[in-house]
Amino acid sequence: MSDCIFCQIADGGIPATLVRESDRFVAFRDLHPQAPTHVLVIPRTHVASLNDVSEPDLVGELLLFARDVAGAEGLADRGYRVVLNTNAEGGQTVFHLHAHVVGGRPMGWPPG
Ligand code: 5GP
Ligand code: ZN
Repeated sequence: MSDCIFCQIADGGIPATLVRESDRFVAFRDLHPQAPTHVLVIPRTHVASLNDVSEPDLVGELLLFARDVAGAEGLADRGYRVVLNTNAEGGQTVFHLHAHVVGGRPMGWPPG
């Protein structure tokens, strides 16, 4: 989708600080980090949200890609959080599926 900012980041049309890439996924640092590590993992193909996923492998691979990002950031042992905000009350503001990988500080619960 040409008007989707995350599609444009995946295509290189909008600059971002990339941390990991594969043929299916791109990981880049969030523009407004909420923790010392805050990386977004997106599929290269446009899917609006978790509600729109039809391919089980896509979310499985997305999660493992997020796990590998966390490991590369040195967070595997100390811990981290992977979040998929979905639609308005879930806090989603960009409607291209993305997983937030956040860590580097203790995470509170319940979430805000
Ligand atoms: P959501 O609220 O949809 O779960 O998360 C969207 C995230 O994308 C937010 O954390 C926001 O800071 C980040 N974001 C929005 N626009 C850009 C951008 O142009 N570049 C980067 N790197 N992050 C962005
Ligand atoms: Zn998109």
